[in-house]
Amino acid sequence: MSDQKLNIESRITLLGAGPGDPDLLTLKGVKALQTADVVLYDALTNEALLEHAPAEAIKVYVGKRSGEHSYPQDTINKLMIDYALNYGHVVRLKGGDPFVFGRGYEELDYAASYSIPVSVIPGISSSIGVPGLQQIPVTHRGMSESFWVITGTTTSGEVSADIYQAAQSNATVVVLMGLKKLPKIVEIFKAAGKHHLPTAVVQNGSAEDERLVVGVVETIESLVQQENIKAPALLIFGEVVSLHPSFKNLIKQYASIA
Ligand code: SAH
Repeated sequence: MSDQKLNIESRITLLGAGPGDPDLLTLKGVKALQTADVVLYDALTNEALLEHAPAEAIKVYVGKRSGEHSYPQDTINKLMIDYALNYGHVVRLKGGDPFVFGRGYEELDYAASYSIPVSVIPGISSSIGVPGLQQIPVTHRGMSESFWVITGTTTSGEVSADIYQAAQSNATVVVLMGLKKLPKIVEIFKAAGKHHLPTAVVQNGSAEDERLVVGVVETIESLVQQENIKAPALLIFGEVVSLHPSFKNLIKQYASIA
């Protein structure tokens, strides 16, 4: 082992990159990137963020987007350890917040098993930030007292069983990884009698090509089809969606037809 290698201080930072707009990274995140020896980044992180890292830092894309070739989680864990042991500070850049459907804890746990110190820098999760950028609050006094963030695609490939319960509640329901499961999710909300519940779908929130459709449970599927909405996208079900300006226009349109 060379002298240089003996001086290596291995550590890992799990860094939340935010929903996409590179300006939505925290200041603490910028500082972490500035001291990175290696950056391992996912598909849902903006490559512009890599500019905060030193030019000589190693930058490795580890993929992860449905339908695309990506490294298995196991390989990512091993790469992270390998780079930390050989180069020092590894910044593991993850979309949104590392602990919201980000498998962040698995990486933290794996690093701990090698006694490599890990610090966590939270990020703005798409689940709250993307509705917020559209001026859709996930809670609103007198309208929504809570919100659920649920996966549309569990490990077994099914929608989460929690959606059945959430659809019965008055909460705002945000579904991640749910676009492909929209027909099933709509069916669940209809079975709960929520045909007219305001609903929005946002594609690529906070990015320049952000797109949004707004309707109600029974119209949202055809709107998504018409507008050809694609992943990454999230679904928002709840009265709070009625606060969006385009929902107000929709009501006006209906009123003028009736
Ligand atoms: N840890 C991330 C979520 C990872 S799961 C976070 O906190 O945001 C990936 C899913 O998040 C995507 O399938 C999509 O449903 C949602 N998502 C992430 N970024 C998004 C964005 N910019 N716009 C819309 N949905 C997004």
